Amino acid sequence: MSPTLRRWTVPLALALLVAPLLACASSGVNKGQFNLISVEDEWQLGNQLAADLARQLRLVDDPVAQEYVESVGRRIVAQTEMARLPWHFHIVADPEVNAFTIPGGHVYVNTGLIEKAPNVAAFTGALSHEISHVVARHATEQLSKAYGIEALGGAVLGRNPAVYEQILASILAQGTMARFSRSAESEADHLGAAYMYKAGYDPQGMVQMFQTLLAERKSRPGSVERFFASHPLTEDRIREVQKEISGFPNTGNLIASDPRFEQLQDRFSG
Ligand SMILES: [Zn+2]
Repeated sequence: MSPTLRRWTVPLALALLVAPLLACASSGVNKGQFNLISVEDEWQLGNQLAADLARQLRLVDDPVAQEYVESVGRRIVAQTEMARLPWHFHIVADPEVNAFTIPGGHVYVNTGLIEKAPNVAAFTGALSHEISHVVARHATEQLSKAYGIEALGGAVLGRNPAVYEQILASILAQGTMARFSRSAESEADHLGAAYMYKAGYDPQGMVQMFQTLLAERKSRPGSVERFFASHPLTEDRIREVQKEISGFPNTGNLIASDPRFEQLQDRFSG
């Protein structure tokens, strides 16, 4: 190949690669957001990470609990623009009050969060917030900024083990793969409250879950440390959610509690 040709081949190849990837961020929730990873590659990366996490986390193997968490999760996902993609819900045997997501529709909830949620609507508030981080593609937006296209292409396709290992280690150490910005948190609250409401759950549950988390931080700071490290949560944020949901018409039959959820809590209470 001549030096002139070589000079043009790399930028051209990158341009061809970037154009369709950027195009996928041009509609819906992610309109105009910078993201170098296609949804297909994100789902592939997520499956690879989930397989590694399954070996390193203590996942709960309880079909009844699994079925219940999945049923709530799928009800929320059905309200989103990613309803047609495969999602996976995992329960982690960990008393810490935490929930997190990795790319590609894998959502993790700790038994500690299930146990501490005052009711099913509060649990759904946390779940809906996490699902919204995935729908808004916050993790891959952050990865795009941090690593750029070459490192990311390598991590996604397994050609850059160093970057991949760094992402995996961060999930294991921090209980999350991203430290979300305030604007990402607001977006996840905003979307999450609307999705849970549309799915028939009382959105007031999200406020209750946040209040529970703040109260936990006062009484047992260690039990929510990782949640607060990845999701900055303030009284202001709670007020914003409260204001937003006060505009949702009360349909009179929103789900706030569910005996099946209470049975699930009994299974996990130590
Ligand atoms: Zn969050």
